[in-house]
Amino acid sequence: MAQEDVFKKLVSHCKEYGFVFPSSEIYDGLGAVYDYGQMGVELKNNIKQYWWQSMVLLHDNIVGIDSAIFMHPTIWKASGHVDAFNDPLIDNRDSKKRYRADVLIEDQIAKYEEKVAKEVAKGAKRFGEAFNEAQFRATNPRVLEHQAKRDALHERYAKAMNAGPDLDELRQIILDEEIVCPISGTKNWTEVRQFNLMFSTEMGSTSEGSMRVYLRPETAQGIFVNYLNVQKTGRMKVPFGIAQIGKAFRNEIVARQFIFRMREFEQMEMQFFVKPGTELEWFKRWKQTRLQWHKALGFGDDHYRFHDHEKLAHYANAATDIEFLMPFGFKEVEGIHSRTNFDLSQHEKYSGKSIKYFDPDTNERYTPFVIETSIGVDRMFLSVMSASYCEEQLPDGETRVVLRLPAALAPVKLAVLPLVKKDGLPEKARAIVDDLKFHFPCQYDEKDSIGKRYRRQDAIGTPYCLTVDHQSLEDNTVTLRDRDSMTQERVAITQLPGIIADRVSITSLLKRLV
Ligand code: ATP
Repeated sequence: MAQEDVFKKLVSHCKEYGFVFPSSEIYDGLGAVYDYGQMGVELKNNIKQYWWQSMVLLHDNIVGIDSAIFMHPTIWKASGHVDAFNDPLIDNRDSKKRYRADVLIEDQIAKYEEKVAKEVAKGAKRFGEAFNEAQFRATNPRVLEHQAKRDALHERYAKAMNAGPDLDELRQIILDEEIVCPISGTKNWTEVRQFNLMFSTEMGSTSEGSMRVYLRPETAQGIFVNYLNVQKTGRMKVPFGIAQIGKAFRNEIVARQFIFRMREFEQMEMQFFVKPGTELEWFKRWKQTRLQWHKALGFGDDHYRFHDHEKLAHYANAATDIEFLMPFGFKEVEGIHSRTNFDLSQHEKYSGKSIKYFDPDTNERYTPFVIETSIGVDRMFLSVMSASYCEEQLPDGETRVVLRLPAALAPVKLAVLPLVKKDGLPEKARAIVDDLKFHFPCQYDEKDSIGKRYRRQDAIGTPYCLTVDHQSLEDNTVTLRDRDSMTQERVAITQLPGIIADRVSITSLLKRLV
């Protein structure tokens, strides 16, 4: 099946089974805003819990906070967001569609990279065992041609972005590369303009004088302005970290690809405060720690790659993205940035208050440097859903849709199903739910045939189904069905918490990290 079709199916699956709904749907929706349904909220909470515990529980030098969405507007002046949180946008006059100029060019670079990858794959197929990839890349004329085009474009693009960006040059690149609008197919482009992504609103009534405030575009600034409060009250010593999960808002120009790019979304950010000069060492360590967190989910190591930034944001001296293989290609899920002391110094300057750290061991006073790990909950959700969604051909010719969610993230851990709706089986099944619901989320279901009930649970990713039959009344055993292998085993009811609880707990994931 084409990847585009897989993605379409995933979006409708999310809706059909209560994971994600378009916001305000009965009013025809609101662009790039989504609501999480009864299943989605559980999966999302589990992702957040996995992240939170991996930070706060596993590191005794990381603590959490929950800062407000509204902050003093000068914070956004100090952070650079008022002046520089812009995207370069361009419109196609024929389709009237708006695009990010940088994204159009990056897509073009990716096209050249795909061409190179295709040639390499063809070569590997042709030469089999004897294939020497390095030599092939260095000598194959077609690879060299595509690679040269890619490199030239990349260099020109990086130069344009670093020069402000140079908006005229970005437009010229789009024209020279003959990039067309995917909707109209034409090259009828407008000028490139800058567009600030922050939402603003008024705080206070006009009679008392209102103030323009912003909906935060990232959660990080709430951590920076609280870092000394936390350090002092928590008696933290550098190096230490502060973690936060919360909503962020960006008026994205091009909001596409479902929950990949939203206007209201959630971030999980951790700022790690270190001694100046040690930041690049910590940057390296956090890259590995975060990659390990992703890989522990078991989707396969080939689903991840680092993408180092060549154009660094004004505040960073090193930055990389962890990209995940979505149905529409490798895309950023998490950013890891070495933010220097930019933010803290700016807040010191704009607030006029000293926020330096005093090191009791060396009697030095300094502004710490910061390594940030920043991941979008919604993008993580999308990566988990897309890697888990599977249409499986069964031996009897039927297909089943199964969400192979990591058990620790699944919304429902166990479905309890009486074989028939009589003979005391429902009562027995309900008694099992009443007992097990204290250990993990269970769902009771007695409607339709067992086969249909299994399919419903497969579709929401429930790792285990338990069937209560007549034998259960006699010997207190049940059949336990595994979602992925569909194998069934007979187990004693009293053993259930022992068999299931450990496998479905967040702890089982956390143990893979240490
Ligand atoms: P992009 O280049 O895709 O716009 P970014 O580099 O601006 O992302 P950051 O500012 O580094 O993103 O934000 C950190 C993380 O927050 C991203 O890796 C992503 O997971 C998430 N994120 C950012 N913008 C959005 C959005 N509009 N919708 C959903 N998640 C987002």
